[in-house]
Amino acid sequence: MITDFNINSLVRANIKELKSYSSARDEYKDATTKEVIFLDANENPFENGVNRYPDPQQHAVKTLLSEMKNVETGNILLGNGSDEVLDLLFRAFCEPNVDNVITLPPTYGMYAVLASINAIENRTVLLSDNFQPRVDSILKAVDAQSKILFLCSPNNPTGNSFSIETIEALLLRFRGLVVIDEAYIDFSDEKSWLEKLKKYPNLVITQTLSKAYGLAGIRLGVCYASQQIIAILNTIKPPYNINELSQQSAIERLLQSDEVVQEIVKIKEERAYLVSNLKTINYVQEIYPSACNFVLIKVDNATKRYDQLITKGIVIRNRTSQPLCENCLRLTVGTRLENSRLIQVLKEI
Ligand SMILES: *Cc1c(COP(=O)(O)O)cnc(C)c1O
Repeated sequence: MITDFNINSLVRANIKELKSYSSARDEYKDATTKEVIFLDANENPFENGVNRYPDPQQHAVKTLLSEMKNVETGNILLGNGSDEVLDLLFRAFCEPNVDNVITLPPTYGMYAVLASINAIENRTVLLSDNFQPRVDSILKAVDAQSKILFLCSPNNPTGNSFSIETIEALLLRFRGLVVIDEAYIDFSDEKSWLEKLKKYPNLVITQTLSKAYGLAGIRLGVCYASQQIIAILNTIKPPYNINELSQQSAIERLLQSDEVVQEIVKIKEERAYLVSNLKTINYVQEIYPSACNFVLIKVDNATKRYDQLITKGIVIRNRTSQPLCENCLRLTVGTRLENSRLIQVLKEI
């Protein structure tokens, strides 16, 4: 149990003092009775389904997530994609031109982009050869200004999960926030870190409806953390960051979890199909194990193969410029038709 962790020592001074914008619907919280007449927000009164501002706290979506994930709604914050959640974390905890964050390349590119946008130094510590965090090197890179450590597990683009012992060591020894980005957790056999939320006050978990849930178009990211951390993020989030149509689509999809589960099963089967067929292609030198809906492979010449695929109408991701990913390509798992076409073209070129 961590007892010497104080979230207030990490929050930026201006955020601590902030009085957040209070929207009309924030002030009137019991909008459950049908008879209430809303003349508070300058909306158009003629009903068309979206003439009202959306619920700023997305109660219906959070209630569903809370039941599914067995966490309280007070431990949940929703963002316009997890990218917005990550940005809110920077803005709440990292003082521009003073603080730094730690990221572990090769990993998700947005951490570095958000660090630049927010004028925060990004201290990079390469993963090991088998794509695991190197705890001692990470702790050596840390100083008093290190506010956030980003762990993407399962990791994009490598596809593997970080070991439980490694993550646990970092949660215990790093004195800033440890953000575990679980965008691909639903494709993995590993358990989510969600059930450890109470044990580690510095743990922040992000998930998304963009991948396994099939809703990349609605932009809905989820942040799970202590109620204190969620309360801080709530003071700075834009009041209506999740629009009404996105909330409705999310609710509909979360209620169809059987369908989602079936799709995940299919995608995992397709991942196995892709892997077994990739083994028959002579210039594929390595197929990295994947706990995600993509597979990273090493080939003879990534840029040449990438260009050849483009001319055949297949777009993949060339990761050759990433550290430890020389001549690597990232292939998203598609439908059987798409995957067999990919294999056919890989054989032809
Ligand atoms: C795709 C992805 C996300 C998703 O971001 P959204 O903004 O929720 O669509 C987050 N993290 C990683 C590592 C990803 O690969």
